[in-house]
Amino acid sequence: MTSKVAVIAIGGNSLIKDEQHRSVEDQYQAAKETCAHIAAMIKDGWNVVIGHGNGPQVGFILRRSELAAHELHEVPLDACGADSQGAIGYALQQNLYNFFHQMGINKQVATIVTQVEVSRDDPAFQNPAKPIGSFMDQAQAERRRQEGWDVVEDAGRGWRRVVPSPLPMRIVEEGVIKQLIAAGVIVIAVGGGGIPVVADENGNLKGIAAVIDKDYASSLLASSIGADLFIISTAVEKVALNYGKPNQQWLDHLTLAQAKEYLAAGGHFAKGSMAPKIQAVVNFLERGGKEAIITNPENLERALAGKTGTRITK
Ligand code: ADP
Ligand code: MG
Repeated sequence: MTSKVAVIAIGGNSLIKDEQHRSVEDQYQAAKETCAHIAAMIKDGWNVVIGHGNGPQVGFILRRSELAAHELHEVPLDACGADSQGAIGYALQQNLYNFFHQMGINKQVATIVTQVEVSRDDPAFQNPAKPIGSFMDQAQAERRRQEGWDVVEDAGRGWRRVVPSPLPMRIVEEGVIKQLIAAGVIVIAVGGGGIPVVADENGNLKGIAAVIDKDYASSLLASSIGADLFIISTAVEKVALNYGKPNQQWLDHLTLAQAKEYLAAGGHFAKGSMAPKIQAVVNFLERGGKEAIITNPENLERALAGKTGTRITK
């Protein structure tokens, strides 16, 4: 049986519900809720590939590393990304395993530690803008700058490290991900947007201190594997025009042309949150994808049945 393949990018709310629930156990419980909906989708016959965010988790790893720096070596950003892919993948794998077991679904789940190649010429390297890690005072910031970090002052709150956010070019593990999908395995990949790597003149890869947008990376994954559907699961049931304004309007459907028009107009989709999701969907559709859905985990099944969510098509 050849079932349809969906790539689902799950957002921060699938792991951290609120500031009071951030422990490993809390994250596991949050993941469980999302996995229940993904398992239902798989029971319905979908083959699913899961991408996820890792911003807060990498922040926690970095903070531990900083606090322990007087005693232990620090963890570089690419290794933090790999650590988080493993730990988050584990929580998703175990939750899905348990649901499959309870629901009588005969499927296996595998997490792929995923490298994503970026270009050394990406303009993002000229303008590192993504803040990561803890706030520093000016003296610490100056010391770090001498060690090679880019640091910026964040109005009133202190100094922070910033890293570039280049565009994903190639998913290094694409081949093995495709083989697993073909074998019916549920795959978890490009966690946190993937571990950013660059190739040298001989084609050898090396991890770099950067962050790739998880929606862009999941979109590239969806295109690379020729997914039938690209789903972005986040904290809202639908996308809105004039979001948060008195004339806010929830959308059931958007065409590719409309999505591009509203993106270009500005003011509808917030910069660091909804705009990259709409852009990720636009990229998927322009690379030949047919359909995308943006909704929240609790409405996944209803959105797949066409009853809610925002559907974006060519
Ligand atoms: P994620 O962790 O899933 O990437 P983000 O916080 O980055 O979540 O992005 C999703 C959020 O974007 C929504 O929860 C909502 O608060 C916000 N948002 C911004 N603009 C819009 C819009 N036009 N329609 C709906 N939500 C929007
Ligand atoms: Mg986001």
